[in-house]
Amino acid sequence: MNICPKCKSDSLEKGYSMGLRVLVCLLLAIVVPFGILFCWIPFVFPYKYHCDVCGSDVDRDDVVQMDWREREELIKEHQQFEEKIAPFLGKWIEGDDGKIFKVAKGKGLLLLVEPFSEDEQETYRIVNYHDRGGEPTIAVSPKVGKKYLHVTDVVGSFANGDPMETALTTIGRDLITEEEFDLIKDSESDFYEVMKEQGKVEQDINIEMVTESDDEKVEW
Ligand SMILES: [Zn+2]
Repeated sequence: MNICPKCKSDSLEKGYSMGLRVLVCLLLAIVVPFGILFCWIPFVFPYKYHCDVCGSDVDRDDVVQMDWREREELIKEHQQFEEKIAPFLGKWIEGDDGKIFKVAKGKGLLLLVEPFSEDEQETYRIVNYHDRGGEPTIAVSPKVGKKYLHVTDVVGSFANGDPMETALTTIGRDLITEEEFDLIKDSESDFYEVMKEQGKVEQDINIEMVTESDDEKVEW
């Protein structure tokens, strides 16, 4: 089984499709003089793999191979990791600088959502939990695959005369409740304050941003 070396997921897809290679081959054959002699070239480029979960492009040689036993071990590790995050799931937490984030799960992935406004949010992948120094800390990475990025989207169409409005996407509905979304829409920039006033924000946990160079330290 192919595993992403960055995030340990098995959601790897071949980056360049066979269809594209065939198309380039045909173009070479038709457009370029004597191109038919070079038709084989598109097929010898090594495949890159794209990870749906962390959005990384991975060279074929860097893809981790696992047998079912190692895979079972990995699933067990992941379950233990999820158990550590479970008490915070669905809750809002406050970072050091007063920003607030929601701990949520969407399409099987643990994420932290930072809403700026009704149509602007940032999602982070939760990669670790630790309590070094006695302080519970959630470590997150900004590297997130495309399908987890957009919490809201503009729906409606000018052409059809439909009203344009912002709505939660499919992944957005997994991460933010309609009630929370309405609150974000209504309170605009005061959202943090409103959430804090309503006592919906946990303050006893830290958030640690994991950068690209820290990748080796990522436990999940
Ligand atoms: Zn990955």
